[in-house]
Formats: sequence, structure tokens, C-alpha cells
Amino acid sequence: DGILTVEDCAVSYGKVTALRGIDLTVGEGEFVAVIGPNGAGKSTLCNTVSGFRDYTGSVQYHGTEVGGQSPRDLVQRGLVHCTESRDLFGYMSVEDNLTLGAYRANTNTKERLRFVYDLFPALEDRTSQLARTMSGGEQQMLAIGRALMGDPDLLVLDEPTLGLAPVILDDISEGIEQIREEGVTILLAEQNVTFALRHADRIVLLENGEVVRRGSPEELREDD
Ligand code: ADP
Ligand code: ADP
Repeated sequence: DGILTVEDCAVSYGKVTALRGIDLTVGEGEFVAVIGPNGAGKSTLCNTVSGFRDYTGSVQYHGTEVGGQSPRDLVQRGLVHCTESRDLFGYMSVEDNLTLGAYRANTNTKERLRFVYDLFPALEDRTSQLARTMSGGEQQMLAIGRALMGDPDLLVLDEPTLGLAPVILDDISEGIEQIREEGVTILLAEQNVTFALRHADRIVLLENGEVVRRGSPEELREDD
């Protein structure tokens, strides 16, 4: 059994069913990517596992049903969601944004900052720069960096490649590889299939709110 176990999960927005019949397990240290076109339900899945949506079926994090916990409980237990919109504090500095990500009790903030700056040296060059003045790619690094300040057991990454230039994508890619070497479990939602296939151990293809295909990157490459 995994760090995250989703069974027969369904989510609706009024009459719109955004997810149905979702089964998904993410094991300790695994990297699972959910891919699919716009509107497939990827963000809804990220929001649901992070405690932001009502659902039917089961969603368990470390064996406890997510539905009974607030997003705040979950983040303090190491389920950290890096959203598509990044949720940065634009008028605060890079370092203040990072420091605010240290959600867990007993976090050694200095040590975590060191870890994030080693991961994304571009951030260390601009510790006092306001978040809103940074480029899209730098903001994405900051958003991932802030999530890592929370010492996640499970990092939920929603479309980290969105709107980024190829050069910046390489930096993000490199950072993500290092994060997995640290043993952080990752659930990635991505429209960028190349990016997902490059990083993930397993791929889940969502269409119209349902899983239509799953397998290793190799298996998915073979039949496309
Ligand atoms: P296929 O290649 O035919 O899709 P898989 O080997 O990917 O088959 O999956 C075999 C079975 O294991 C399927 O019934 C699938 O639902 C289940 N399965 C595969 N991956 C997961 C997962 N991440 N979480 C839950 N069940 C899974
Ligand atoms: P993806 O992330 O794959 O683009 P989403 O999870 O954002 O997909 O959307 C899945 C479906 O749910 C879409 O039909 C979308 O319009 C709908 N949806 C998403 N968020 C909301 C919301 N807050 N209110 C109503 N419908 C929503």
C-alpha cells in the first residue's frame, strides 16, 4: 500500500463530473505523473488529494482518509501541494516566501533554505527580490522551493511547466531529479507529455475525468 491510495474516487462541480472511478496508488518514493488534455481533471485530482474538494470513494494519505482532514492538517503532515497558480506572495521577498513554506513543526528553517538554494541557485542570487518581479520560470522555482520548505513526504506538483521557456524547463527538470533523489514522493499533473515521460516511474492518462491508460513511460511511448 502506498503513501497515497485513491479508490473509486469521483468529484463533481454541480452537474459537471470532473472525475469518476479513479483508482491510483502512489508508493513511497515513487514518481507518478497524471497526464491528459485540458479539462481532463488533472487539477481536480491534485486539489482533491490535497484536501480541497469533496469527493466520493476513498482518498487516503498515509492510511488516513483525506476527507476528514483540513488542507492545513495535511500540509503539516507533509502533503504539500504546489498549485498551478503558484500562490506566491508577490510583495514579499524570495526568502520570506520560502520561510513561509516551513509548515511543519520542528523544521530547521536554515537547513531547509540551504537545501532549496542548493537546488535552485538562481533563487539564492535574489533572496531579497520581490516575488512578483521575477520571471515565470523563477517564480516556478520559488513555488517548488517553498513547497520543499514544508519537508514534504508527498509533493503534489500541478503543471510546473506551464508557460515556461525550454531553457528554464531544463533547470526545473534538474531540480526535480534532485528532489526525487532525496526520496520525496511526487504526484505530477502535466500536459507536457515529454516532461512527464522523462521524469515519472509510472504514467496515468486521464481523459474526461477517467483513467484511460496507465503504464511505465516505455509502455506509453510504444503505443503512441
Ligand atoms: P495495462 O497496461 O493493461 O493498463 P497495468 O499493468 O498498467 O495494465 O495495470 C494492471 C492493473 O493494475 C490494472 O487493473 C490497473 O487498474 C492496476 N493499476 C495499475 N497501476 C495502478 C495504480 N497506479 N494504482 C492502482 N491500480 C493500478
Ligand atoms: P485539467 O487540470 O486536466 O485541465 P480540471 O481539473 O481543471 O482539468 O477540470 C476538469 C473539469 O472540471 C473541467 O470540465 C472543468 O471545467 C471543471 N472544473 C474545474 N474546476 C472547476 C470549478 N471550480 N468549478 C466548476 N467546474 C470546474
